[in-house]
Amino acid sequence: MGKGMGGDCSKPQPKGEGQPSQQPKGNQSAPASTAAQPKPKPEPEKAPAAKMKIANRVSDVIGNTPLVYLDRVTKGTGIKGRLVGKMESLGPCSSVKDRLGRSMIDEAERQGLIKPGETTIIEPTSGNTGIALAFIARERGYKCVLTMPETMSVERRLMLLALGAEVVLTPKETAVKGAIAKAEEIRDSLGGKGFILQQFENPANPKIHRETTGPEIWRDTDGKVEVFIAGVGTGGTVTGVTQFIKGSKEHGLEPKNPKLYTVAVEPQEQMLITKAKGGEAIGPQGPHKIQGMGAGIVPKVLDISILDEVVPIHSDEATAMCSKMWLDEGIPVGVSGGAIVAAAIKVLSRPEMEGKLGVCILPSFGERYFTHPMFGEIKQKAEGLKKQPLPPPFDNTQYGFPTERG
Ligand code: PMP
Repeated sequence: MGKGMGGDCSKPQPKGEGQPSQQPKGNQSAPASTAAQPKPKPEPEKAPAAKMKIANRVSDVIGNTPLVYLDRVTKGTGIKGRLVGKMESLGPCSSVKDRLGRSMIDEAERQGLIKPGETTIIEPTSGNTGIALAFIARERGYKCVLTMPETMSVERRLMLLALGAEVVLTPKETAVKGAIAKAEEIRDSLGGKGFILQQFENPANPKIHRETTGPEIWRDTDGKVEVFIAGVGTGGTVTGVTQFIKGSKEHGLEPKNPKLYTVAVEPQEQMLITKAKGGEAIGPQGPHKIQGMGAGIVPKVLDISILDEVVPIHSDEATAMCSKMWLDEGIPVGVSGGAIVAAAIKVLSRPEMEGKLGVCILPSFGERYFTHPMFGEIKQKAEGLKKQPLPPPFDNTQYGFPTERG
């Protein structure tokens, strides 16, 4: 495992980036909940500049995730290049969103938009962003309120509540739009003390991938990465990493490899990015089962002009490949990881990809998805397991304890 990015990322960042578009507004002061505002936490003492490698706080260990060859899951697929996975599942709360949560909170703190002990951080999110905000809010002493459609799994609610966040459910019929409206209502009711970070619009989102994820991939492949594959939720990962490697005049980044081939992945049932790039959707469009991807909008932070290709993957294909990742590689990823690996294999199987090195993002840890239909059969098997009789000297009637010592 890597060292954690704390040292580098706690340095002051260049000005001009990371201006969240959302300003607190409203004057009434009806709090969203009765839960007590956590006390501001004193700044932890900085560890002395000694040889010990101990982080000051948990958000300092976000990032520096390892790369691993995915030779077992790609074996026999006819792949021409070689695929590597970046294990974002190894962050403190097990997803690529740990980076984003920290980046958005750091940036808002730097700009004086939020203050521990005073501000309530609010976000419409059902997923990993909520978990990342919840744990960093705890670390820093913010109250955190997350709004989400009622359809979100109980395990997700449990995770957020256990981290001390407040969860506000909205009607399923209004999907993400309803969750956004509720978040805005709560913010407005807090009289300037509520703040929405807006992951889909916040420049601190792609910024953290320009500053950490992209440089890590470049460093750990010794500059040999030729193909990059990522799923689009907010588009922050695919945009930031590509800007770092291909270069970005806007952000003062010289090209490292301008020929990098960037592949964005989206659910086949919701091909909005494909359409935004002038392509056509395949098959029926509607709900999908790839959590974290396909948010039903073309996000503001996604730069579609730097994508070389958008690959659609059906939820069933994503689920099947996710299962192969668990079983062939022994890497428990979430369903979006399955979609990304499936897309990567398709692209790297073309003749022109002979010998090329592809890096794909494995966005999250699989244990978070046990209520996904993919685990239906396994859940049944787990529930149907029966205890087995023990060999002598156990008598199998006295609760399995031995009748004599021998
Ligand atoms: N997969 C999962 C599981 C995610 O939580 C996310 C983030 N929503 C993504 C993929 C996509 O990442 P991004 O938002 O940077 O596009």
